[in-house]
Amino acid sequence: MHKVLITSRSFGQIDDESECLLKEAGFDIIRLKNDFDRQEFAQMVQNCDALVIGGHRFEPEDMQKAKKLKIICKHGAGLDNIPLKEAARLGIAVTNVPGTNSGAVADLTMGLMLCLARKVIASANYVQAGVWKPCIGEDVFGKTLGLLGFGAIARNVAQRAGGFSMNVLTYDPYVTQVTEDLPHVKLASMKDVLVQSDFISLHLPLNESTYGLIGRDEMQIMKKGVYIINTSRGGIIDESALRNEVLAGRVAGAALDVLEREDDMKNQPLLGLENVIITSHIGMYSKEAINKVSIVCAQNVVNFFAGKPLQHKVSD
Ligand code: NAD
Repeated sequence: MHKVLITSRSFGQIDDESECLLKEAGFDIIRLKNDFDRQEFAQMVQNCDALVIGGHRFEPEDMQKAKKLKIICKHGAGLDNIPLKEAARLGIAVTNVPGTNSGAVADLTMGLMLCLARKVIASANYVQAGVWKPCIGEDVFGKTLGLLGFGAIARNVAQRAGGFSMNVLTYDPYVTQVTEDLPHVKLASMKDVLVQSDFISLHLPLNESTYGLIGRDEMQIMKKGVYIINTSRGGIIDESALRNEVLAGRVAGAALDVLEREDDMKNQPLLGLENVIITSHIGMYSKEAINKVSIVCAQNVVNFFAGKPLQHKVSD
């Protein structure tokens, strides 16, 4: 019987269809204890044929010891926690699930943008503390939205932004044209996106070339009063520089669903600022998205061992 280790805590949490797919195909499902522990993971993965992985890092030295492992399915889109070159060298197939969760992340992005612009969280916090205080924000309608990266999530954001009559500028070095259904979107240089946008939202992968992409220099050329939203990955924005620019008033507010060190809440430069909203990496956490992503992962595991084609194969 093949063993599949599931380290994503949200896998199969909404509906049992994904677990049933695996069980009916004869897989033995193994889960970690509640909190991720690298030693426990490294030990358990050695006995497994397949892995459905969440957001934690899979260190290359742990991968080398996982001699039985044939396939890794990322329960999400971002592959920055998986050493892809090592997986390719060891002949381990890797899949992810881009596009499947993009509507959920786009919904959250729009929600965060509205919360920032209309000071929703600050107002709600005052009221909960018994203070009835007016909080004056600004319109989103008709403003310019800059999107860094124009993949699956950014396109969904652009579509939603059209409903708010926003002008959308986007920078993506790998995209050469915008589809006709998004007439309000224009391709631009990164500098133009930074200089001209009222809201800037990040939708690109974390890798060697995007780490620290938005630092002090980039924020200094943004419009005074810009709002920044990051639902992609921590590490793409320099958080200490962002703190300085929020305190200096160049950045009017920031909303982050992701942090560079999500496992270390003691050392966070952006905690305690009223105009910074931080959510706990909930981008794909809608019931619908979790379900769809779980089913694609389970199907990929089953298909792999049945010799059938895989969805979103990254490497083998
Ligand atoms: P995608 O692959 O469809 O799109 C990413 C886009 O970024 C691509 O079009 C690519 O060309 C572009 N890009 C790459 N390098 C760039 C650069 N230097 N400058 C500008 N653009 C660049 O991925 P997606 O599904 O849209 O997801 C985007 C990111 O969002 C993922 O990499 C992932 O890290 C993150 N994500 C977060 C959550 C969450 O829960 N918050 C959920 C899903 C995805």
